[in-house]
Amino acid sequence: MAKITLKNLRHSYLPNPKGREDFALKEIDLDWQDGGAYALLGPSGCGKSTLLNIISGLLHPSEGAILFDDKDVTHLPPDQRNIAQVFQFPVIYDTMTVYDNLAFPLRNRGVAAARVDERVREIAEMLEVTEMLGTRASHLSPDNKQKISMGRGLVRDDVNVVMFDEPLTVIDPHLKWKLRSKLKELHQRVKATMIYVTHDQTEALTFADQVVVMQDGEVVQIGTPVELFERPQHTFVGHFIGSPGMNVLPAAEDKGKVSLNGQAIAVEGKVMGAGGNIQLGIRPEFVSLSDAGLQARVRKVSDIGRHCVVEAMVGDTSIKAVVEGEVPPQGAEIHLAFRQDQTRLYRDGWLATEVTP
Ligand code: ADP
Ligand code: MG
Repeated sequence: MAKITLKNLRHSYLPNPKGREDFALKEIDLDWQDGGAYALLGPSGCGKSTLLNIISGLLHPSEGAILFDDKDVTHLPPDQRNIAQVFQFPVIYDTMTVYDNLAFPLRNRGVAAARVDERVREIAEMLEVTEMLGTRASHLSPDNKQKISMGRGLVRDDVNVVMFDEPLTVIDPHLKWKLRSKLKELHQRVKATMIYVTHDQTEALTFADQVVVMQDGEVVQIGTPVELFERPQHTFVGHFIGSPGMNVLPAAEDKGKVSLNGQAIAVEGKVMGAGGNIQLGIRPEFVSLSDAGLQARVRKVSDIGRHCVVEAMVGDTSIKAVVEGEVPPQGAEIHLAFRQDQTRLYRDGWLATEVTP
């Protein structure tokens, strides 16, 4: 196990990259602490697999360095990096039994047979595949194949990091939640550094202590699930996390005074900077129906189980509110109130309000 540092990483798949847009990874500086449970979260195409493949050595970065415990491994081949990588689709040997598949990474490194047996049984038990150990892998369902593939990633106890690249893609929805919590439990038992890559916020937030959110080849925020929910540093994080995501509303700002559709809005604290494109950010959970406040008209009400989402229009701007209890009918004229300590200002996408304790 080791701490992993990525320094000034940039990567382009083009032979002669010119502008920023030619880079799949723009500028990555990151520290992964030893033993941490991390998720790398972002939409398809944002560079997650590129980053993983650079850490494992399958890909050589155009610029920058990778350090394991401060030792430069940028030029080391994958087999000398002591990394286990689990891919989106199962990588197993169909002609071998489940047992031999799990044993393979250990036998390959000359681990003694008794220790191989102990470790294979331990991992099989954690993944609940013990009764399949004698089965030929070709006879397994896709779900079970992927479980074995994950087991192969977890079986060595000498790896620096175990990386999962969207491992639940092929898993049946009803099994997904089960494996998801299983992985969290496995991290606690195995204690290796784990990096879990996904485009699914639920997977990221249930697995990780720290979530790294990526957009378009860049890291936009690193934080705990709570930090990402409560103080998105960028409107992208606000949108991407939460269901429904944060309301991001076109607004105006002049000398620290903020308004929406001509009506004054109190924001959480001091407004920093000047100019740029101004947006207000507030989560639907912190918008409420009130007697006074922003005038709005109900456009749609959706019942999402324990509460309703009321979508209301303020001029041309749609605002969502999570409401418990009674909801107004479609077309009703209402007032909306924003909880001030949860009302943030964004300038050109980045958080521009500051609260001093
Ligand atoms: P993610 O895993 O987040 O979906 P990727 O790292 O696979 O994203 O891709 C990041 C960007 O790099 C995308 O624009 C993708 O099209 C491009 N890309 C990925 N792999 C290659 C490749 N082998 N050759 C050229 N472009 C690639
Ligand atoms: Mg990918």
